Amino acid sequence: MKNLVGTFAPPFAVLNDAVFLRTLHPRDKIAGMAEAVKVSLIRDAVFFEWLEANAEALREYAPVAMARMIRRCAELHMRQITHGGDPFESGSVRPLDYGHWSAHKLEALTAHELRHGEAVAIGLALDARYSVQIGMLRAGLEDRIYDLLKRLGFYLWHPAVESRDDEGRWVLLRGLEEFREHLGGDLTITLLRDIGRGEEVHRMDTDEILHAVSWLRRREIGQ
Ligand SMILES: [Zn+2]
Repeated sequence: MKNLVGTFAPPFAVLNDAVFLRTLHPRDKIAGMAEAVKVSLIRDAVFFEWLEANAEALREYAPVAMARMIRRCAELHMRQITHGGDPFESGSVRPLDYGHWSAHKLEALTAHELRHGEAVAIGLALDARYSVQIGMLRAGLEDRIYDLLKRLGFYLWHPAVESRDDEGRWVLLRGLEEFREHLGGDLTITLLRDIGRGEEVHRMDTDEILHAVSWLRRREIGQ
C-alpha cells in the first residue's frame, strides 16, 4: 500500500479484512482512508458522501464501516487496473494519483516521518484548493474535502510543505519535476472538476500552488 495503485488495492482486497485490520497500527489504518477519499474524489461522489456520513465510525475504526470502505476502495482501484479507466478519458494510464505529486515529495522530505497516507491527505487538500483557485472546482468544495479529512482524523500540515533549499528554492516544487520525470517526460496531474470527477491537466502554476499552501497553513495552524 505504499504508493502505486498496484501495491495498494490487491493486499486490501485479498486479505481477510477484519483479521488484517486488527494487525494494523492506527496510523496505517488512517492512512488507508486517504486512498479511499482520493478515489472517491476522482471517481465516485456517492462513495464520498458515504465517507462523510460514516466519518465518525471510520475514525473509530468500526469494523463494519472499515470493511465496507476497504471493499469499495479496492473495487474502484481494481476497476482502474483491469479496465484502464472509463472510455471518456483521454487514455491516461495513471489517473489514480490525485494528490500524489506533492505527497511523494513530502514523504521523501520528511524521510518518511510522514507516512504515505498522511502525505496523501495533505496532497488531496492542496490540490482541491488549487482546483478551486484556477476555477475548475466550485468554491466551497475544498472546505468540504478538508472537513472530511479532519473528521477522519488527519493532521493536514507539516513544516516540510514549506521547506527551502540552501538557495532559497521551494523544495516541494521539485516534486512536480520529479513527477514529470516519473511519467516519462510529460506532466499529467489529476485535479478535480467536481466531487467524484477528476480531470487531468498538464501544467501547474507555481504561484497558485503557493497560495494553496498558504490556505492550508491558515486552516491548519492559523497563521
Ligand atoms: Zn497512494
